Amino acid sequence: MKVPQNLTIRRKLILWFAAILTIVLVLFGAALYGVTRFALVRVVDNALSNSVNEVIANANAYPLSQFNTPEEVIVDLPDMDVFTTGGMMVQAWRIDADGHSLVGSSRNIAEYAEPLDLNALTSEISLLAQNSAGETMWSNTIINDGAWRVISQPVNIFDRMFVLQAAMPLDQVNESSRWLLLIIAIEMGLALVGTSALGWSMAKRAMHRIDVITDAAAGIVSRDDLKTRLPYDGPMDEIGRLTNVFNAMMDRIQHMFSVQQRFVADVSHELRTPLTAVRGHLDLVRRYGMDPESMDALEGEVARMNRLVNDLLMLARADYGGISLDKREMDMDELVSEIYRDTKVLAKGRDLKVTVSDYEPVRVNGDADRLKQALLNLVGNAIKFTPDGGSITLNLRRTDSDAIVEVVDTGLGISHEDQKRVFDRFFQTDESRARGLNGTPGNDGVGLGLSIAKWITEAHDGTISVHSEPGEGSTFSIRIPHVERRLNGSDAVTRQRTGLIRRDRTSQQASVSNGDKRSTRS
Ligand code: ADP
Repeated sequence: MKVPQNLTIRRKLILWFAAILTIVLVLFGAALYGVTRFALVRVVDNALSNSVNEVIANANAYPLSQFNTPEEVIVDLPDMDVFTTGGMMVQAWRIDADGHSLVGSSRNIAEYAEPLDLNALTSEISLLAQNSAGETMWSNTIINDGAWRVISQPVNIFDRMFVLQAAMPLDQVNESSRWLLLIIAIEMGLALVGTSALGWSMAKRAMHRIDVITDAAAGIVSRDDLKTRLPYDGPMDEIGRLTNVFNAMMDRIQHMFSVQQRFVADVSHELRTPLTAVRGHLDLVRRYGMDPESMDALEGEVARMNRLVNDLLMLARADYGGISLDKREMDMDELVSEIYRDTKVLAKGRDLKVTVSDYEPVRVNGDADRLKQALLNLVGNAIKFTPDGGSITLNLRRTDSDAIVEVVDTGLGISHEDQKRVFDRFFQTDESRARGLNGTPGNDGVGLGLSIAKWITEAHDGTISVHSEPGEGSTFSIRIPHVERRLNGSDAVTRQRTGLIRRDRTSQQASVSNGDKRSTRS
């Protein structure tokens, strides 16, 4: 069946429903009618069969040999009138070479000299002519404009063949069948109309709730209104769940939209600061000519904008999955040792003590460049936000499952409230925005370094966290799963590296020994 495409779901549902229901009801009605009619005809057949068998059981025949006519047989049939209840008619036909002759009948058919069913009798005669014993035949025939059921039963009595025919009217059976058909048709119609109407109203109610959702969604689109939510206090069925999902989706879209707006506002704001500075410096250059200080200042602001754009680019690419990590097995202790040397170089000119405290060999599956970028962001912050005279400590530990790198400083610290937000994009604490306080250098960051470190850590299936007390310092920890360390020469290298760090720590030199080159790793 081809359903037109522009039908509403409600109409399609009802059409399918009605079509299937009609097929089921017609099949059921036909089966009920057939079985009932078969049972009714069976009752008639049984009565006919019993009567004929009784006639045969009580029939007698005498050969007339004592009268020297041995072919002659006197057939003594029982009184057939006992079978006339229910309008049954019985006939006994004798079949011989000359043809067939009526040898007895019930009184209600006394004047009727024709066979009850001539066709059936003729068929029996031709069967018997082929030396067969004949067979019981059932037939329907019309007698006096009425429908009759007829049994034709051959029987052999004293080697003489007879065919008994009995008939019963089918009026009652036909009458009952007609009534049954009428009742089935009426009930089918009522069932079809009733269930279709019920289905229609249920579908209408369900679809009405969908219409409400559609209208609300259309309103949101036409009004650009992300705040609207669908009101719903019905049961948690499919429509209820759809409404919930729709509202949750709207929450998410609204949140993402506001994040996006804030992001654009933050980016514009962060770009405006260096741009204003560049314009100021360019004004000075125009008026007084280029001098080395202006050149340095311009370079600094351009570098700041460059960093900002690079960080933004990286986060934007990370967001849409455009960054693929080059992960391979690597020694985390080697990376930490590299970071230690870089930290010392970065802290040059500052009165900061840079040390490595815990240092265990541990191997991870990671992108060395990205992990280095994350750790440099942490040590960069530690240097920026730790006043002179403070210290920065690197730790590398391993647990059963993870490698943990910590960057511990004795700097400004972060309030408990701000600790929840430090990994958000563009977040900066009020303390850090006030540049150059407490002997710290100016904060030239824009609040993206920790977001980048967080993304890199999570891309390594790890976590990043902070513990801090305002005024006492902060500890940033990166925790990523380690891989089993192969038993090879790398432990020896780590021992060698640890020795170098220790020696370095004792001598407090900023320079880093050349002893642990990557080429020494196995
Ligand atoms: P920024 O470029 O401003 O350093 P980050 O995302 O790296 O951006 O850090 C966000 C903010 O978190 C910093 O501006 C600062 O307010 C705070 N912060 C980060 N690290 C430290 C730290 N070691 N000590 C104190 N505050 C910190």
